[in-house]
Amino acid sequence: MIKTTKNFNQERNFQGQRVGMVNLGCARNLVDSQTILGKMRRSGHRVVDINEADIAIVNTCGFIAQAKQESIDTIVELLELKKQGKLKKVIVAGCLAQRYSEELRTEFKDIDAIIGAQKLDRDIIPEQVTLTPRHFAYVKICESCYNRCSFCIIPKIKGKFVSRTMESIAQEIQKLDAQGVKEINLIGQDITAYGMDLYHEYSLAKLLKKVIPLTKNIQWIRLLYAFPAHVTDELIEVIASEEKICKYIDMPLQHISDHLLSSMNRGISTQGTIDLVEKMRHKIPQGSLRTTFIVGMPGETDQDFSELKSFIEKVRFEKLGVFVYSREEGTAAYDMPGQVAEKIKKNRLDELMQIQQGISKDVQENFLGQTLKVLIEEPVENPVILSAAKDLRDPSATPQDDKSFTYLGRSEFDAPDVDGVVYVHSSRELAAGDFVNVKITETYEYDCAGHLV
Ligand code: SF4
Repeated sequence: MIKTTKNFNQERNFQGQRVGMVNLGCARNLVDSQTILGKMRRSGHRVVDINEADIAIVNTCGFIAQAKQESIDTIVELLELKKQGKLKKVIVAGCLAQRYSEELRTEFKDIDAIIGAQKLDRDIIPEQVTLTPRHFAYVKICESCYNRCSFCIIPKIKGKFVSRTMESIAQEIQKLDAQGVKEINLIGQDITAYGMDLYHEYSLAKLLKKVIPLTKNIQWIRLLYAFPAHVTDELIEVIASEEKICKYIDMPLQHISDHLLSSMNRGISTQGTIDLVEKMRHKIPQGSLRTTFIVGMPGETDQDFSELKSFIEKVRFEKLGVFVYSREEGTAAYDMPGQVAEKIKKNRLDELMQIQQGISKDVQENFLGQTLKVLIEEPVENPVILSAAKDLRDPSATPQDDKSFTYLGRSEFDAPDVDGVVYVHSSRELAAGDFVNVKITETYEYDCAGHLV
C-alpha cells in the first residue's frame, strides 16, 4: 500500500531535518514539489539545496519510458549517496511512485518512504516553498485529466479530474501579485476543461475574466495546456482581446490523421483540427502556436505520416515537440494492433524535427527589426564568448566598455524552461523581473538577440 503524505509527515524520526528536492518531469510536478516542500517546512524541517540535505526527496515522472528511466537513474544515484553516508534518507514521490510503488519497494529496499501523486485541495491555496525565480510562478488550476487518450497513463495515475474553485485561484493570484510576481503560468493537464467538474461548463474564459482585473504587477498570464476539443470560441476571444494574456498557445495536437485521432480518443477530427488552427490564426494573428505530435502510434502508416508532415509544413507551428509513441502498460493503446518498429519511429521523429528546425529559423528571422517586450531572467555569465561569435552587444557600447551588460530574457512567445530566449544587450544594469523593450538585431534557430530601445 502506498504511504500517504499524511502518514509520512507523522513519522517522528524525520522531524527537524534538512530536506532537499530533486524535481523531475514537467512544470506540474514542479508545483507538486513546491507543495511537498511547503508541507515539510510546516512539519519543522529546513528546506536546503539538495547537496546539503540529510533527506532527499525525488519527485518522479512516470509518463513515458524515457522519463521513467530518468527517475530510476536518479533514485539509484541518491541511494548510492545514502550508502556512502552522504544522505540519511531517500524519499520517492510523484507519478512513478504512484504507478510502481510495489515494484520500487521490492527493487530498492533502501528507499525510506514512498509518497504517490499529490492530491489537489480545491478550496485551499497550497502553502509552497517556491522553486521558481521570484518574478514568475506556476499556478495549478486543476489536477489530473478530464480526457482518456488511449496512449496516456496520466488519468490512471492521477485519478479523478479536480478543478480548484475560482475563489482559491483568485486568492493565490492576488497573493502572488502582491509579492511582485510579473508572470503567472496557469497549468494543468488540460486547463481548457477547467470547471467541468465544479461548474459543469468550460470555465477557463470566465476564470480569466475574473482574475485579470485583480492583477497589477502581473503583466503576463500564460495558458499551459489546451486540449483542442475543449477550446471554445469564448476562450479564443478572451485570449485575443485581453492584453495580459500571452499570445502563446500550447495545444498538443498529437496527430492529424483521422483514424489515428480517433484511435487516440482525442475527440476531434482532421477537419475539426484544421478549422480550429485556422480560427486561431485568424483571431490571434500575432500568436505563437506550440504543439506536440506523437509518431509511431499503433496503426500509423506511411500515408498517415506523410499527412502529418504536410500538415506541419502547411501550418508552420512556431514551436513544435515530437515524441515517439511509448507503449505503456495499463493504457488502451498497449494492446492495439499495428505496433510500429522502434527504428521507424525514430526516423519519423528525426524527419519531423529536421523540418521544424527550418521553420523555427524562419520564425525567428521574422523578428528581425521588430521590438519585443522582454522579461529579464538573469545575467549572461560570459557575454564575451557570446559576442565573439557575432557582434551582439548594444551598438552604443564598445567591446572594451565595461558598462555593457548581457542578459537572458523571454518574450511573451517563449514559455519558461521549454522555449528559446532573447539575449538582451544593455548599457545599463537590469534586474531579473524587469520588463524592457528590445529591438531584435540577430536571430538563431530557436533564440534571438537585440538591444534596448
Ligand atoms: S489530454 Fe490526453 S495525453 Fe494529455 S494528460 Fe490527458 S489523457 Fe494524457
